[in-house]
Formats: sequence, structure tokens, C-alpha cells
Amino acid sequence: MPVYEYICLKCNENFALLQSLYPSERNTECPKCSSTEVKKVLSSFSCVSGLKTAPSSAPAPGFGGGG
Ligand SMILES: [Zn+2]
Repeated sequence: MPVYEYICLKCNENFALLQSLYPSERNTECPKCSSTEVKKVLSSFSCVSGLKTAPSSAPAPGFGGGG
């Protein structure tokens, strides 16, 4: 059986479920919050927008090397 990936619109939980050839999003529930507000996502690279990148808190390496 094919595996379909879903994402919860409530807690943004990404999970995969085994579905038939004719998957129905109505019977899909989030395993985390048991919400039915899930959306099927395609396992492929896609441009995501709106994602907030965490502030890089990498300490400055300072002056190293030099030669
Ligand atoms: Zn959820």
C-alpha cells in the first residue's frame, strides 16, 4: 500500500499513513491532537513560504588563523 503524508493544520504535525488507492482525507486524523483538519502533502520538494528561520545563535569564531 502506498504511503501518504499528511500535515495537521492544527498542530502542524507531519505524519504518514497507509492509504488505499483512493485515499480519503475525511478519515484521516492527526495522531497527535486527533484533529481531522489535516491536509495531504506530496512527498516532494516544494517551495515553502512563511517559514520562520530560527535566529542563528552561533558564537563568533573570533580571529582564527591568519597567515
Ligand atoms: Zn494535530
